[in-house]
Amino acid sequence: APRIGVLALQGAFREHRQRLESLGAAVTEVRLGSDLEGLHGLILPGGESTTMARLMTEYALWEPVRAFHAAGGHLWGTCAGAILLSRDVLGAPPQFGRQDSLNLLDVTVQRNAFGRQIDSFTTDLAVRGLEGVFPAVFIRAPAFTRVGGGVEVLAGYRGQAVMVQADRVLASAFHPELTGDTRLHALFVRQCAVVSA
Ligand code: GLN
Repeated sequence: APRIGVLALQGAFREHRQRLESLGAAVTEVRLGSDLEGLHGLILPGGESTTMARLMTEYALWEPVRAFHAAGGHLWGTCAGAILLSRDVLGAPPQFGRQDSLNLLDVTVQRNAFGRQIDSFTTDLAVRGLEGVFPAVFIRAPAFTRVGGGVEVLAGYRGQAVMVQADRVLASAFHPELTGDTRLHALFVRQCAVVSA
C-alpha cells in the first residue's frame, strides 16, 4: 500500500488521516521535512491558509515539500491546502502582504470566492472521472480564477473551477474528508501507487 503523509500543522488533518486509513493506506503526520522520507503522497488539508503559510515558514517546510514533488511525490491540497499549492493567491488580508505559496500549480486562486453570505454549503458536484455526483462541502472556499495551460479542470461550480489537476498535483476547493464518500481519497491513493520518478 502507498505511504501517504498528511501535513499536520493546522486544520482538518485528522479527518484526512481517518479517510486514508479506512482505505488501507499507511498514514504519516508530517510536521518536519524529514517526515516526508519514504512517502508516495502528501495531503495539504483545509484550515486557514495564512496561518498554515506562517507555520510552513516556521517549520522550514517550503523547500522540502517542493523537493518531494520534484522527486516524484504526489500532492493533494484541499481548500486552504489548495491555496498553498497555487502560483498566485488573491484575497489575502492586506496587512499580510503577498501570500507565500508552493507555486506547484499554475493557477490563480481567489480566497473566500463564494462570499460571506453563503460561506458554507454542500452541493452535489459532477467531478470528471467519477460516476454520479460527489457531495462537496465548501467552507469559506476558494476558487481557481485563472487556470494555466497544463492544468485540467475536473469540476466547476457556478462558472468557477473548483477542482483541478496538473503534474502529480491535485487541488480541490472543497473538503472531501468531511463526508463519508471516500472516492476522491481512493483516487489519490491510486495515483500515489503509480511510481513516476
Ligand atoms: N478561507 C480559508 C483560507 O483562505 C480556507 C478555508 C478552508 O480551508 N476551509 O485559508
